[in-house]
Amino acid sequence: DVADLPGVPEWLPDHLRDDGIEELYPPQAEAVEAGVTEGENLVASIPTASGKTLIAELAMLSSVARGGKALYIVPLRALASEKQADFEEFEQYGLDIGVSTGNYESEGGWLADKDIVVATSEKVDSLVRNDAPWIEDLTCVVTDEVHLVDDGERGPTLEVTLAKLRRLNPDLQTVALSATIGNAEALATWLDAGLVDSDWRPIDLQKGVHYGQALHLEDGSQQRLSVQNNEKQTAAIVRNTLEDDGSTLVFVNSRRNAEAAAGRLANTVRPHLTDEERAQLADIAEEIRDVSDTETSDDLADAVADGAAFHHAGLSRGHRELVEDAFRDRLVKVVCATPTLAAGVNTPSRRVVVRDWRRYDGSAGGMAPLSVLEVHQMMGRAGRPGLDPYGEAVLIASSHDEVDELFERYVWADPEPVRSKLAAEPALRTHILATVASGFARSREGLLEFLEQTLYASQTDDSGQLERVVDDVLTYLQRNDFLEIESGELDATSLGHTVSRLYLDPMSAAEIVDGLRDWERGVSDSTSASGSPADAPAEPPADSGFTTASELAGDGDESNNADRDPDDISALGLYHLVSRTPDMYQLYLRSGDREEYEMELFEREKELLGPTPSEFEEGRFEDWLSALKTARLLEDWATEVDEATITERYGVGPGDIRGKVETAQWLLGAAESLASEVDLDAARAISEARIRVEHGVREELVDLAGVRGVGRKRARRLFQAGITDRAQLRDADKAVVLAALRGRRKTAENVLENAGHRDPSMEGVEPAPDVEVDLD
Ligand code: ADP
Repeated sequence: DVADLPGVPEWLPDHLRDDGIEELYPPQAEAVEAGVTEGENLVASIPTASGKTLIAELAMLSSVARGGKALYIVPLRALASEKQADFEEFEQYGLDIGVSTGNYESEGGWLADKDIVVATSEKVDSLVRNDAPWIEDLTCVVTDEVHLVDDGERGPTLEVTLAKLRRLNPDLQTVALSATIGNAEALATWLDAGLVDSDWRPIDLQKGVHYGQALHLEDGSQQRLSVQNNEKQTAAIVRNTLEDDGSTLVFVNSRRNAEAAAGRLANTVRPHLTDEERAQLADIAEEIRDVSDTETSDDLADAVADGAAFHHAGLSRGHRELVEDAFRDRLVKVVCATPTLAAGVNTPSRRVVVRDWRRYDGSAGGMAPLSVLEVHQMMGRAGRPGLDPYGEAVLIASSHDEVDELFERYVWADPEPVRSKLAAEPALRTHILATVASGFARSREGLLEFLEQTLYASQTDDSGQLERVVDDVLTYLQRNDFLEIESGELDATSLGHTVSRLYLDPMSAAEIVDGLRDWERGVSDSTSASGSPADAPAEPPADSGFTTASELAGDGDESNNADRDPDDISALGLYHLVSRTPDMYQLYLRSGDREEYEMELFEREKELLGPTPSEFEEGRFEDWLSALKTARLLEDWATEVDEATITERYGVGPGDIRGKVETAQWLLGAAESLASEVDLDAARAISEARIRVEHGVREELVDLAGVRGVGRKRARRLFQAGITDRAQLRDADKAVVLAALRGRRKTAENVLENAGHRDPSMEGVEPAPDVEVDLD
């Protein structure tokens, strides 16, 4: 009974009852017995939707009630706002909630007064690197989806961050929540924690496989589920669920497939909608179109008008929220999603269909099966407690043999054990530098001892492997001037400190510094058949026998070691520089792209910083071209090409443009700091490229677009109306501004106020008739 919880604030039982929670679910009760409300460490490995959030809340609220401060680590930014909304319910009892996701390299001082902070593991890592003083005040840390320590890219950050937090405060209560995994006890051992390992669910889940005209269920029964002529299996299941007044969540393996499936399934859903539903859906479709003016937005709106939707990481946040809400409100009857959604966004549904159980995997060089853990997490979304009698999760078989295979592989299988991915060079490069720079280790031995506290160390018998990678990484860091090693003592250089605080992969920093230096020395052509930038010759050997692109272009003198003016670095050159670092997710080259970007490279090679790798170095050359494609996207954005054209030209979603832009902004900001750190005089060019990409405008609009509420399109309209900068806007004729902003009074008032206009009121003002602006 919620009245009998030790250690929690006195208002909590009533609050829970108001939410319809009278009794704890069994795994929650086990957690309380294990002391989660009394400061004990705990690992809880329980199925999706079985009440993990409440366990987290019990831990955090009781810790705060004892005068402490709690941190909740989320795996995805998209989840931070959902958790924030959950926890903000406690503000009525005087608690302060803070969220910190973006903008690395600050210490988030304002978080010092918060009782509960929500952040991604990367953000926490960066706060530790920037010595946020309040980190030491933490008394409780909760990690959501801790099984992601298994993720090669992000897992190591989580692992090292937890180790650091625990080192800073040995009494820190550590609570880790996980999906059901094969080796929960290994996590508990690593974190010195009690363990709740349960497969209890609040609502029954039946797993099954569909083939032919039947749904084969795991209890051995079969349901007739017929597929009509020309109908796909998924459509048949969606139709069958609709006939029972239920909704379906369909998991597919790519964004494109999600969009295509939603488009098709809209035809299945449409006949089942009532007039009222149609009217409400039409409203939501309009809201979707309002979010952005792109093809993705249109496709989504079209599908939603018919009661279907897609959901993937290429959507903007506004789109995602509209889809999730409409699905929860049972207006949208089917959502086709990529597996990212399964990682925690709370959208339960009557049925789940796992349509694709393979996905493209670059490292496997083709299609590879999903892990049991992932498939079980998707399946776990089936069934809404209190609304559905039970949930059903269905895999789709395309042959009779596949029915058996899918039962073996997923329905009856146990999830894989989670294994640390720390002992890999890219991960250790970053974390070793940060660990030394923040003073967690001052010698090779100290470093190894620190790494002993990671999951990796608790899982391996071969400590030699870790030592070998550590030594390689130390050599790399020393060679690139990030670390000094003197008689066994490790010390970060000033550059090393900067890199760590900027949250850069040291390899990105090296690429940026080398590129800027190469530019200064005038190295920018394709003479290097030799290798990495580090050992490329500073100027082409006279007798190399190669013809360089710049020679072909008739200005070979540039490669004559002449110092070049840093102000001449083009924005494209800088976008390319940051796009080729490991911190930027580059765009893939699709078929046909290679030729196009080889041409592009030939034309614009002079603008790039550093020597182009030889075509014989397949991998590096390919990367160089992908970076050029990414840089071209950024350049398009910064020359006011409209969003719809960009999404089409590069085959991306609007959310991807935002992602690239934000990453470029961060990396260019970092490049500015690095340039001044190593005395390179390129700050002006970099800062301009950064601001242009931030606002998505050409140079002449930078000032205007910086006024809050203006943005790229409005800045261009104002400019066309003769208002060219902030100062002019401040003193502008209101009739002109109103005309430029197409008669939108509220917007005009807002913009004038932000520009500091004496009297922004638009009352009685009419748009000036002689102002003509036309962008569309
Ligand atoms: P998880 O994080 O494990 O995926 P959630 O914490 O989101 O699952 O819980 C799923 C749903 O169950 C939520 O709507 C929550 O309010 C509800 N819930 C949690 N605990 C209880 C309980 N003891 N009694 C009734 N409902 C509960």
